[in-house]
Amino acid sequence: MSFRVGSGHDSHRLAEGRPLILGGVTIPHTRGLVGHSDADAVLHAVTDALLGAVGLGDIGDAYPDTDPRYLGADSRLFLTDTLAKLNQLGWRVVNLDVTIFAQEPKLGPVKTAIRENLAVLLGVPTDCVNVKAKTGEKVGHIGRAEAIATHAVVLIQKLSTDYTEDTDIERDSSNL
Ligand code: MG
Repeated sequence: MSFRVGSGHDSHRLAEGRPLILGGVTIPHTRGLVGHSDADAVLHAVTDALLGAVGLGDIGDAYPDTDPRYLGADSRLFLTDTLAKLNQLGWRVVNLDVTIFAQEPKLGPVKTAIRENLAVLLGVPTDCVNVKAKTGEKVGHIGRAEAIATHAVVLIQKLSTDYTEDTDIERDSSNL
């Protein structure tokens, strides 16, 4: 069994006139995140973590914000497309740990919905995903509620093709 770890970070500015979407969940709030796509900072960080784990660069390489196809895009597209690439390479997600930094709105009531949605999108049991929420302690751009950021860490695994049964047999024979 081979394992890889990946990390991702993303942040977007909060502004009026935009829906707030985190982890694919629309959250009632007076402001939302600004971006070329739907600006889902959680899905962007998770996508970057997956890309990082397999050495496929970053979300800007894979889905450029200069591409009109991604204007207003549902960020679930980025995650599911990236997951398909990983699966084609033989990788599966083991677990995901996400930390969302937001002064407002309070994310306590929506953490479970985000967690469950991430698990569905990744095709893993809910207990393989964790979502934590932190405020910015009213300091800096997060604390002033100017932006929301996310940090994500993912572990992936695949059955190794480097370690064959022949290797086992040779090792066993050498012990005779
Ligand atoms: Mg982003």
